[in-house]
Amino acid sequence: MKHIPRTLRVTTGIFLLVFGAPSHSLSQTTQAQQQSMTPQVVLDDLMEGNQRFINGTLTLQEVNVVASREATASGQYPKAVILSCLDSRVPVEVVFDQNIGDIFVGRVAGNVENEDQLGSMEFATRVAGAKLVMVLGHSHCGAIKGACDDVKLGNLTLLLEKIKPAVKAVEGFKTSERTSSNAEFVARVVEENVRQTVTDIRQQSEILKELESDGKIMIVGAVYDLESGEVALLDK
Ligand SMILES: [Zn+2]
Repeated sequence: MKHIPRTLRVTTGIFLLVFGAPSHSLSQTTQAQQQSMTPQVVLDDLMEGNQRFINGTLTLQEVNVVASREATASGQYPKAVILSCLDSRVPVEVVFDQNIGDIFVGRVAGNVENEDQLGSMEFATRVAGAKLVMVLGHSHCGAIKGACDDVKLGNLTLLLEKIKPAVKAVEGFKTSERTSSNAEFVARVVEENVRQTVTDIRQQSEILKELESDGKIMIVGAVYDLESGEVALLDK
């Protein structure tokens, strides 16, 4: 502490007293923290957690899992709900360095919304108080590649149909280039699929749309890079 000016120490102390400890502390998000955080603060918190993940400096490594589990058993105050792909290489809590009880995660191959996911998001925000809805796509997504190649396989066929509008919407490629073997095309479809899912969420859920227009939540799209570990936010 000796290099930190006293005024700054006092200011920091007051800040912690008023707003509670930063949410990336080793304990899980409390009710007071959830209520005091704005949607932008939650987004910043997640992006800071992602930076720690990229750097390999996770606070999760120091978490007392047993204590966190016991502390959250009687209640939860998650700050965000994230719709992610099923992919095993996108461990959402780890990617954002979040503890037990910090975030809701809905997962389905290709991170597309449906009424079950929408209902879950409405619960997460309106009922449970989460401030941020994020749709998280990722590079080299198998579901996106399957949709690009028009794969047919059991129930997967119907799931991939939900990604097809994103495949069709991507322009600037010749027919022969519109396959899973074209990494650039796949990357463009991954982004487009996230954008369309965000748009669909606003169109299909009056509750989420209203919460967003009232400034109570934010709805954002992002893409995770399997190689770098970086989550890149998409423009609105
Ligand atoms: Zn995927």
